[in-house]
Amino acid sequence: MRKIGIEIKIILSVVFFTLLIAGLERYQLSENIVNQFINSKKSKNKLLMDTILPVISLDLSLGLGDSNIEFLDLIVKQNKDIKYLHITNKENKPIFQYPKNLDFKLQTGNIDSINNCASPIVDNITGETIGHIYLEFYNNDYEQVLSKNKETTIKIFLVTLVLLGVLVYFIKKEFKHLRKLTKAVLQYDPKQNHFSLKRTKRLDEVGVIHNAIIDMVDKISSHTKLLDDLNYSLEEKIIERTQELQKVNEQLEKLSITDPLTKVSNRRHFENYVQEIWNLSVRTNIHLSLIMCDIDYFKTVNDTYGHLVGDEVLKNVAKTIQKSLKRSTDLVARYGGEEFVIILCDTDIAAAKEVCEEIVNNLKHRNNFKIGDKIIEPFTMSFGISSMRPTKDHRYKDLLRLADEALYKAKENGRNQTVAIDFNDQDS
Ligand code: GH3
Ligand code: MG
Ligand code: MG
Repeated sequence: MRKIGIEIKIILSVVFFTLLIAGLERYQLSENIVNQFINSKKSKNKLLMDTILPVISLDLSLGLGDSNIEFLDLIVKQNKDIKYLHITNKENKPIFQYPKNLDFKLQTGNIDSINNCASPIVDNITGETIGHIYLEFYNNDYEQVLSKNKETTIKIFLVTLVLLGVLVYFIKKEFKHLRKLTKAVLQYDPKQNHFSLKRTKRLDEVGVIHNAIIDMVDKISSHTKLLDDLNYSLEEKIIERTQELQKVNEQLEKLSITDPLTKVSNRRHFENYVQEIWNLSVRTNIHLSLIMCDIDYFKTVNDTYGHLVGDEVLKNVAKTIQKSLKRSTDLVARYGGEEFVIILCDTDIAAAKEVCEEIVNNLKHRNNFKIGDKIIEPFTMSFGISSMRPTKDHRYKDLLRLADEALYKAKENGRNQTVAIDFNDQDS
């Protein structure tokens, strides 16, 4: 069946149905033959009866009781299928019986006109019943026809049943395969890359479709894999590029907020940051302190050791200030030239002074005066502190302005010192 094409299967189906119909026709025909046989047997029996009856009737009505024996013997002799022939007179006494020694009692209940037949003998003139006649036949031929017909019917029925079973089996087998194929196709998920069926060796249409689907699934799988790989490498590239971009952005952001020489925050970033801290402090009512500091006589450093040494000094000072700040919210920025600003969150004027002292102490470290192989003269710094609890009525610029004023005073007072101005004291 595996190599049988769909055309052959259709032809086989047509042949089957033709056989089925021919079988049914054959059955119908045998039924007709049986009926015809029965009819002809009935006619023959009737004819025999019609032959016997007038003769016997005449004999009996004329009182010629024994004259019919010869005639009836001839009838029995000529009709080999007669099994019994029994004739009685009006008094129900047998006047003829075949076989002779027959001990017979007439039973008229089972008369079927095929195997037997019976009839009253009527006087043609008076219309009176003057006797009875009963005929019974050997029914071998009838039984034969009937059993032959039954046998044929059973054979046709069995053959049809077997053929029908075979057809149903093959149809079911075909549909089972197609159903399996359909189920596998519907369940196929390219992401899982697994098709539940293997290639088939069937060479018919179903086999061709089956293998074509498997080829298609293979192609889909390899394309999916290709797409997955592409997606994966694309994702990897995107992640790589995103990381690179993030790095560049971070660097750019750092650059945009950093002073290029000292690497501490630049003035712009400082102002943005102070504005945010200011807003927060207004809401939370905490103390803010701002320190402005400037290297004393820095021009002399430049003039004595050169500009490059001056740059290194600036870097050292920035690092020293940065090191002296302990809180994550503290921020130092280069405000310009050799001037730095520091914002100290939640810090009052006394604590800000301590920070300045810490810076002054750290500045004394000898590394600050060792530039390359050159040792420079120690220098000092002046500090101006402003401190206040920010309110909505003021701006952070007020804090800046005040620190600037304090620094100016420190310079004026002879430098190397700290001047602090409390904003609240000022107002009052
Ligand atoms: P004072 O005590 O009054 O502050 O005196 P000063 O000399 O420090 O102040 P002044 O304003 O007279 O001079 C500041 C000097 O700082 C002048 C300038 O050459 C120097 N300076 C500013 N920015 C830089 C810089 O980036 N690198 C170097 N090497 N020097 C700088
Ligand atoms: Mg200076
Ligand atoms: Mg200055």
